[in-house]
Amino acid sequence: MAFGWIDDQAELRRLAGLVRTLRPRPADSPLLDLASNDYLGLAHHPEVVEGAAVAARTWGGGSTGSRLVTGTTELHAQLERELAEFTGFEAALVFSSGYAANLAAVTTLAPHGSLIVSDAGNHASLIDGCRLARGATQVVGHADPDGVRKALRTHDGPAVVVSDSVFSVDGDAAPVGALAEASREFGAGLLLDDAHGLGVLGEGGRGAPHAAGLAGAEDVVVTVTLSKSLGSQGGAVLGPARVIDHLVNAARTFIFDTGLAPAAAGAALAALTLLRREPERAARARAVASELYTRFTAAGLEAVRPDAAVVSVRAPSPEAAVQWAADCRTAGLAVGCFRPPSVPDGISRLRLTARADLSGAEIERAVRVIGETRP
Ligand code: PMP
Repeated sequence: MAFGWIDDQAELRRLAGLVRTLRPRPADSPLLDLASNDYLGLAHHPEVVEGAAVAARTWGGGSTGSRLVTGTTELHAQLERELAEFTGFEAALVFSSGYAANLAAVTTLAPHGSLIVSDAGNHASLIDGCRLARGATQVVGHADPDGVRKALRTHDGPAVVVSDSVFSVDGDAAPVGALAEASREFGAGLLLDDAHGLGVLGEGGRGAPHAAGLAGAEDVVVTVTLSKSLGSQGGAVLGPARVIDHLVNAARTFIFDTGLAPAAAGAALAALTLLRREPERAARARAVASELYTRFTAAGLEAVRPDAAVVSVRAPSPEAAVQWAADCRTAGLAVGCFRPPSVPDGISRLRLTARADLSGAEIERAVRVIGETRP
């Protein structure tokens, strides 16, 4: 039978207790949300929603074409100018997702004969970028600048070091400054995925590269998503204008993809305006993360010290993690549950997101539920 092997795989997944199912979220969910990536609580902000609505009314429900044909509106150009200005880079290029932005950045910065040095904890979209790139990939240890040096030392030719700036599952930050130093020693470029840093780290949420003094550097390229702190959808690459021009001409996920929906661009622009006006949101998200971590560890839970807005709490086994997350849900709390194969290190954990708009009472409730349901 065609596709018969799928049933065998499904059975293996079922036996391993690793079946995933979709659970549509109702508009009026009663759950307290510590599972989403809406770090600044902007996805439902009236100005962000209005930004999306006005953009859709003005420009339509879709962008109508690929960016080089009809899919670049004045709104896209404005978003690119404002993203570059906010983060401190010379230029920006917007994509339909952060995933597409990462595929574009890695593939176009790693030509034939080049070396990509990739952190073992990198996001799937960076890993897929490495797989699609013409250059060779060498995976190095997690957050290991000396490992990066060792890899670069063996290579003759163009090279790029690739790392999440904040790792998506555990929420720990990469040693961004040390990675830049290591890359520079060998004339390599540095590509940072700041999906979880934008809006949370750096002055007013300008991101991890800005915090590390790397904004605008000619040897640093950054990718971001519009779907987390900015409460919208889409992605972007930030960097020197000559790199962005190269992407316009060479990145397949830019050239062959339909431009970002106007509503998403309008929402992201409104979120950037809010971030400039209310820069304290970034610090508040970090403070909430810190408080959750302190409370969890005081209660004897094993957690990773958060560098941004993600708090990761260890579970003893994949089954325990699933049960823990389910018990939280029954008690009114939505949390993320990460287990193999999403986490290659084999460690299962709950992933909680600290939102800037959580109240003291909501933090209390989250801490109480996590403690009461612990395995
Ligand atoms: N990079 C990282 C580190 C992420 O966590 C994500 C989203 N899960 C992405 C890239 C992809 O971004 P998007 O969801 O906009 O495609």
